[in-house]
Amino acid sequence: MTNGVVLWVGPSEVDGKVIVLLATCLVSPSDNTKTGPMVQLLIMLVDEPPHEAVKSGNDKSVCGDCPARGGPTWKNWCYVLVWQSVLKIWKAFKRGAYPKGDVSDLLASRWSIRGGAYANHSSVPFEENEKIFSALSDAGKKWTLYEHDWRNCDQRLAKWAMASCETIEDVREAISMGWRPYWACLPEDIRAAKEEALLECPFRLDDPTTPQCADCGLCNGKKEEDYRPGIFVPVHGASHKIKNYNKMRESLRVI
Ligand code: SF4
Repeated sequence: MTNGVVLWVGPSEVDGKVIVLLATCLVSPSDNTKTGPMVQLLIMLVDEPPHEAVKSGNDKSVCGDCPARGGPTWKNWCYVLVWQSVLKIWKAFKRGAYPKGDVSDLLASRWSIRGGAYANHSSVPFEENEKIFSALSDAGKKWTLYEHDWRNCDQRLAKWAMASCETIEDVREAISMGWRPYWACLPEDIRAAKEEALLECPFRLDDPTTPQCADCGLCNGKKEEDYRPGIFVPVHGASHKIKNYNKMRESLRVI
């Protein structure tokens, strides 16, 4: 079995540029303490290296208007190290290392699936997402998926994805629109998150008895008759990313 496949290539739903949806780590899983071993789904421009696309702003084709890209008064706080593993995967794709595959490759892998390991799934046509996540759901396979453009994207994606939120107002709006929210919040937001009945992500770095995403799978959207709460997690990652996140939140307060 190959370790990576091309799931789809076609025009971005954001701006029509040619993008690719890849699956990697089908055999050798990712080495990520928080998520645990998972297949990674990544979306990239076909004709521009991902780290260059971040600099040129062309990452909009796959990330839309996600606030983690950076904005008028804050820098990029996206936790994905685009110039490392994502670039390596893009280069492998360009030299033809990944054969054409489909959802059966995901089902055949022993690992859970991490959607959006890089970029936003609404940049891919809904029908392609539906093929993947309905098959995973039918097979009882675990996945995680977060959608940043939940206000504007095809609303059927709420079945498979969490709404990525930045503020308590986002959380309330997402719930009112039929999404389960996922809020990477500041320590001072925890009370508001609990008052909104969100559940704190159970993972603890210092406690090996707590579940990783691969086993937990709570962040998988909202099914019919699904009364599970949304999730909050105090913002984490490299210190300069947290600083940039704080600047973004600051800018929301002054708008
Ligand atoms: S709630 Fe579960 S799936 Fe969601 S981030 Fe936490 S460990 Fe991962």
